[in-house]
Amino acid sequence: MPEATATLSPAPRARVQAMKEYHPPLGGRDALRLDFNENTLACSPKVREVLAQISAGSLTRYPEREPVEAIVADHLCLVPEMVALTNGVDEAIHVLFETFLEAGDELLLPVPTYTMYEVYASATDAHVVTVQAADDLQFPFERLLAAVTLKTKIIAIANPNSPSGSVATRAQILQLARSAPHAVILVDEAYFHFHGETIIDLIGAVPNLVVARTFSKAYGLAGLRLGLLAGPARMMRWVRRMLSPYSVNSIALACLPPALEDTAYLDWYVSEVLAARAEFEAALDAARVRRWPSRANFILVEIGAQHAEFVRLMRKAGVLVRDRSSDPGCDGRVRITIGTREQMRHAGTALNQTLAALRAESEAR
Ligand code: PMP
Repeated sequence: MPEATATLSPAPRARVQAMKEYHPPLGGRDALRLDFNENTLACSPKVREVLAQISAGSLTRYPEREPVEAIVADHLCLVPEMVALTNGVDEAIHVLFETFLEAGDELLLPVPTYTMYEVYASATDAHVVTVQAADDLQFPFERLLAAVTLKTKIIAIANPNSPSGSVATRAQILQLARSAPHAVILVDEAYFHFHGETIIDLIGAVPNLVVARTFSKAYGLAGLRLGLLAGPARMMRWVRRMLSPYSVNSIALACLPPALEDTAYLDWYVSEVLAARAEFEAALDAARVRRWPSRANFILVEIGAQHAEFVRLMRKAGVLVRDRSSDPGCDGRVRITIGTREQMRHAGTALNQTLAALRAESEAR
């Protein structure tokens, strides 16, 4: 090899060079995890039983996705051609964007919202058009509708949205779908179980509607990386071309049927979180912390200029929370995941102590 070339390294695509690095703060999480909107407890015991039975021999085989897709489709009252299992919703977003977005296209995005839409869009040649929510962080429906153009190729709506916890109504989603028949309307229902409302029943009936679901939140399987994309069969055929047949591993596939079957566990966990959310909202109100109404397993709160110190002190008290200050329109705001009532009582104590410490600190200045 000529000496000069030894120091050269192959250049990635210009788009990739321009991409921002995204490093979620996953280090040092041995504490109460109220930072990633995960299930804060465990998955169903039925899933653990299946996990315990997985043999070494079964791991020698490539995973077969189709039979499990049929089970999931049945569970959702859809046909298998309408459902693709994915390596988390993140893969669903990635593959959907790679399938549809090209130069000249626009991704329409109400913000603040889930970070990965913009990350994956920035790897394509499409242009991201954002619509900023007002201070109430409600779904900016009218302005989103007004921002639809003939170039709009995907509209991504997290419902409920993160980090705000706000929701879009079925009527709003349908009107957007009708107003942009040339665009894919992605409704990301990652937090569906805590909201209880879905639009997945209209898959197929609305020709440009796709819905994503995850097993990372209520089901408590974030580590397995399991999500799904549901859409009209015609559209899903294109998506499947881009999807690796093996991206969902066999352990995740084995765990999915018992996770779906154990509705009692899921119902229990969701009702526990909803009860904890109501209690924690009362604690925030008592502490005079501004909060945004949430239909999900997290609450966005206003901390103000001391947001970074707040997150640091909460961590010191054993509670991890997520600073969302760098999200558009979210300066000084922190997102707190809701766990069980017991966990949230502990979090409430840490919150009050932290707020008192911050108050003392600012008075001493
Ligand atoms: N969509 C939204 C709105 C999310 O908040 C998250 C996770 N934080 C995801 C998708 C990612 O889900 P998954 O773990 O299935 O990739």
